[in-house]
Amino acid sequence: MRQSQLFTKTRKEAPKDEVAKNAQLLIRAGYIHKEMAGVYAYLPLGLRTLNKIVGIIREEMNAIGGQEIFMSSLQRKELWEVTDRWDDAKVDNWFKTNLNATAEADGKRGKELGLGFTHEEPITNMLEQFVSSYKDLPFSVYQFQTKFRNELRAKSGIMRAREFLMKDLYSFSKDDASHEDFYEKAKQAYIKIFERVGLGEQTYVTYASGGSFSEFSHEFQTITDAGEDTIYLCPDCRLAINKEIIEKQSVCVGCGGKELDEHTAVEVGNIFSLGTRFSEALNLMYVDEHNKKKPAVMGSYGIGPGRVMGTIVEVLADEKGLVWPKSIAPFAVHLVSLGNVGETASQLYQSLLDGNVEVLFDDRDASAGVKLADSELLGMPTRVVISPKTLERQSVEVTDRATGETELVPLTGLMARL
Ligand code: ATP
Ligand code: MG
Repeated sequence: MRQSQLFTKTRKEAPKDEVAKNAQLLIRAGYIHKEMAGVYAYLPLGLRTLNKIVGIIREEMNAIGGQEIFMSSLQRKELWEVTDRWDDAKVDNWFKTNLNATAEADGKRGKELGLGFTHEEPITNMLEQFVSSYKDLPFSVYQFQTKFRNELRAKSGIMRAREFLMKDLYSFSKDDASHEDFYEKAKQAYIKIFERVGLGEQTYVTYASGGSFSEFSHEFQTITDAGEDTIYLCPDCRLAINKEIIEKQSVCVGCGGKELDEHTAVEVGNIFSLGTRFSEALNLMYVDEHNKKKPAVMGSYGIGPGRVMGTIVEVLADEKGLVWPKSIAPFAVHLVSLGNVGETASQLYQSLLDGNVEVLFDDRDASAGVKLADSELLGMPTRVVISPKTLERQSVEVTDRATGETELVPLTGLMARL
């Protein structure tokens, strides 16, 4: 894409009321727009990154057999009453609304509805019609869906939004053993996802409280000061435990001996055994091999792509701006032309496009200082500068955004180098 065509522009200052580093940088770079506290719009560059994160998650969910669906955000009150999750005293972050009053014969306020903060109830209710026999199990369904949560604090930018995209997957198995089998597969898929988006090293599979159906759930916690959780880590074997379940800071039970270290972290994902709570309440039953009626055993598995994106900014950005791993960068290459290089820059741009390189071409009529600073703020993994000086040597200057390493590469060897 030609940068001269991009409607977004970089800016020097983030909004005064924005305290989170991730949102400050993403707003300055024109990736997102702040609608209000905890509510953000994704602009072209931001949406490209969000969609790449979504793409990676989708591939890994498909790889473990997940079937993609798309539920509604508008939710019927009755379903949530069945599981006692409608009452504001039980769930404190509901956004609730009403159907148009004029639709009701008595002119009273229309029916109450909720904007989904999660989807166990409607999904279990919907699937009830498709499950009757043990032969129908196991299976899993997932979606990328907007969730609404009236979060008390929304100071973490896109890491804690009031309206946000979530990938939520739900698994349905006939018994605990079959459930455990899938749960382990999902855990491995999550490990792969965080590796692929560039957070593998900083992200820990963390024991967290499990509700009443299993001793533990597993959170995927990424070490960053921008997080709101505290975890304890073994410096040797990657064992990690959320502070909420640790009795006292102790030595590692994984490899023995070593003292656990305290760290601030953010939950980027969460996998949870649900047992039969929802299937029993909403009648998701099957008949087993011996003609006995039983509730399906369920699990839920969440990731917020926006929170992942914000976390990557918090972990990898530097004082000059964003730094994207190649797997999720809006563009792999930022081609920047400086000074009068005539048609050569456009030709190079075209040859990169022809070679299927995702490239943002800064073809703007602006100073070298502005262009280079913008390039660092935007954070594409590889910058290619073409200028009269580099062309004297039939070359371009290739810079790695993360390390700052620069090298002069002959034009003829550029494709091979990217
Ligand atoms: P937290 O404890 O941080 O509030 P949670 O435990 O309520 O999160 P889950 O209900 O497990 O979160 O949601 C699954 C995933 O959705 C989380 O792991 C996180 O990645 C993402 N997520 C949750 N809340 C938000 C939010 N307000 N904004 C963006 N992403 C979110
Ligand atoms: Mg959680």
